[in-house]
Amino acid sequence: MRTARRIEKLPPYLFAEIDRKVAQARARGADIISFGVGDPDLPTAPHIVEALIDAARDPATHRYPSYTGMPRFRESIASWYGSRFGVKLDSDDEIQPLVGSKEGIFHLPVAFVDPSDVVLVPDPGYPVYETGTILAGGEAVLMPLVPENGFVPDLDAIPQGALERATVMWLNYPSNPTSATVDLSVFERAVSFCKEHDLLLAHDAAYTEITFDGYVAPSVLQADGAMDCAVEFHSLSKSYNMTGWRVGWVAGSPTAIEALKRLKTNIDSGVFDALQRAGIAALDGPGDHLKETVERYRRRRDLLCDGLKSMGVVVEPPRGSIYVWVPVPQGHTSESFTTFLLDETDIVVAPGNGYGPSGEGFVRFSLTISDDRLEEGVERLRKVVT
Ligand SMILES: *Cc1c(COP(=O)(O)O)cnc(C)c1O
Repeated sequence: MRTARRIEKLPPYLFAEIDRKVAQARARGADIISFGVGDPDLPTAPHIVEALIDAARDPATHRYPSYTGMPRFRESIASWYGSRFGVKLDSDDEIQPLVGSKEGIFHLPVAFVDPSDVVLVPDPGYPVYETGTILAGGEAVLMPLVPENGFVPDLDAIPQGALERATVMWLNYPSNPTSATVDLSVFERAVSFCKEHDLLLAHDAAYTEITFDGYVAPSVLQADGAMDCAVEFHSLSKSYNMTGWRVGWVAGSPTAIEALKRLKTNIDSGVFDALQRAGIAALDGPGDHLKETVERYRRRRDLLCDGLKSMGVVVEPPRGSIYVWVPVPQGHTSESFTTFLLDETDIVVAPGNGYGPSGEGFVRFSLTISDDRLEEGVERLRKVVT
């Protein structure tokens, strides 16, 4: 058997070594506390679960769903966009439901990248921007995100040669893994840059609803001219604790949405209708569950950041996302500190370099563990970090 070259081209799975060590530690009975994976520990709100149960009992939901999604779900999305961002969207031409946003993020380059085209991706960033590009036959050019620039790419530093071949630029705020947040001006600048260079601006908005301290995350579609050159990916996964359900959507430029729709009819069918009805319940329903979720992450963020501060590790508490991006102590690399924490404290964190070379020198703590485990984790850290 011979695998395709494109599989060989995928970057190595950087967490493989950590996973192996975690499995070993668990096998010897270690009580592992994992700050590793960003998968919400809280249950989905009861009214959303009820909506799914009711919908699943209705045989009308049991057939192939339409590719373009239920009109009623797209209307809910459009109305949510209007009230949340003040952005008016046409629910027919400017919104496409997805089987989780990762599905659409991965497939976008298939519609927008020819062999040897370049995709500009944030470094560090969600790995799918790069792997999707590689599997579509394109080339990913990294845009370094560093603390000095507030983890915002320096657009003037993009090499001219790469820019000439580029067709897509990815952004993601609030950011995974850096937890950086931005104001609308960053999107305005990016939109005019992408228009000038004829790029599709693709914004991954997985965390816009999880923000703290009065900060409200903008949508890229609020920027002037965005509807000509930008799309935005949303997901119910993180804000509604629905990672296993697989419901997301992409919205924005009707030309881009048209291309993504054409592609999608050839790849899969739509989102299970019962899930779309649950999605309507999430978007139209009472907002208290989301508020409680956000409040819980804020508390956990403070527990972790205050704990780290008392050990002399100062991190600015992030204004959004479910992560804290922490510089490693002097003398350590991302990898060595991750291994040190696992060996000495049975704590798992995600090494920053796993998200791109500019993530070197950081580790990512995910806030998706219960408060008491988090407190126990902070106590263990206190014993080894001085
Ligand atoms: C979790 C995550 C996603 C994927 O969300 P799904 O809708 O569950 O596929 C996309 N982008 C980022 C940055 C994420 O962290």
